[in-house]
Amino acid sequence: MENEVSNVSKKTIIYVIVGVLLCVIAILGVLMAVAFGKTNSMVKKNQEYAKQVRELEKAVTEKEKTMEEKESSIAELTKKNEELNQTIAGYETQLASVEELNNKINELMNSYNELLGEHEKSKAEVESLKAQVETLTAEKEELSKKMKNMESDIAEGIVYWVEDGNAYHSSPKCPMISGASEIKSGTIAASGKNAACIFCG
Ligand SMILES: [Zn+2]
Repeated sequence: MENEVSNVSKKTIIYVIVGVLLCVIAILGVLMAVAFGKTNSMVKKNQEYAKQVRELEKAVTEKEKTMEEKESSIAELTKKNEELNQTIAGYETQLASVEELNNKINELMNSYNELLGEHEKSKAEVESLKAQVETLTAEKEELSKKMKNMESDIAEGIVYWVEDGNAYHSSPKCPMISGASEIKSGTIAASGKNAACIFCG
């Protein structure tokens, strides 16, 4: 009896143990299935992320390329700007030289105009002096002509007289006869006077 009871209880214990083991195995199976499912979805998500990362990397590479291009054009533009600045500086220097030259030209023009004014003035003075010299020359010529006439009169023995005068004169300009209305001329014999004028001889 005792043996039967112990056999039954042993069997029960074995069943219980087997049952418990089966339960544990079932739970483990469920857990593994859940874990596997999760791992699968994570792998999928991971692949998606990897894909997105690759796309983003591609976009970054493209942007970097664009940026490099932009940087190179900026460098080019900066270079051109510097060149232009240099050219402008050159032009400014030239402009300064041109302004300096203009100032010099203006100064020279002023000096030239001043000299021209002085020259015109001198020219006018020279002309006036020339005119005076010409007048004086003409007067001198007339005087020397008159003197020659008088000399030739005297050499030829020409004398002058007035009808009612007492003497003959060597010149018609003698104050004794110069105011007379009619002055006659000719040789001493033709005058009919005996004496020479006490003024002109
Ligand atoms: Zn006289």
